[in-house]
Amino acid sequence: MSAFVIDAFEFCRLKEQAEGELPVAEMARLAGETVDRAGSIKWSLAGGADKLGHPQLKLSVSGRVNLVCQRCLTAMPFEVSSESVLVLAKDEESADAIEEVLDDESIDVIVGDEAFDISYLIEDDALLALPVAPKHDVCPAQEVAGPAATEKVSPFSVLKNLKR
Ligand SMILES: [Zn+2]
Repeated sequence: MSAFVIDAFEFCRLKEQAEGELPVAEMARLAGETVDRAGSIKWSLAGGADKLGHPQLKLSVSGRVNLVCQRCLTAMPFEVSSESVLVLAKDEESADAIEEVLDDESIDVIVGDEAFDISYLIEDDALLALPVAPKHDVCPAQEVAGPAATEKVSPFSVLKNLKR
């Protein structure tokens, strides 16, 4: 059994904590968003309960991945950093009920399990933290071409070039 499988309800009840690091290459969906499948995602998970006593998981993920810039199509390093709160429900029906009671868009209600694979959660969280259309602030190609091609230019014409 994978080290990432926990009993989600026991984990919350006992207020357990866990942390680790997951290579990007082992997360197919996340790896597919990168140029080189390099890097890894650090994660930490803390069990507990919300104000109303629902079992609750707090998950943080962080790490650097190399996305593809949508403008110049070269690698663009990106720092993933995200924290999320997940309330556990026993089944879909009670998940809907809890969601209604909480009425909070920032909290996700998910169906927990005695054999709950948290690597899936970690990957989901990292994916949600990625920009929809990643772009360099200044693409590397422009950086090289810019100053050499235009010496002593006013800041305004530089701005004009950037807009183009
Ligand atoms: Zn770029």
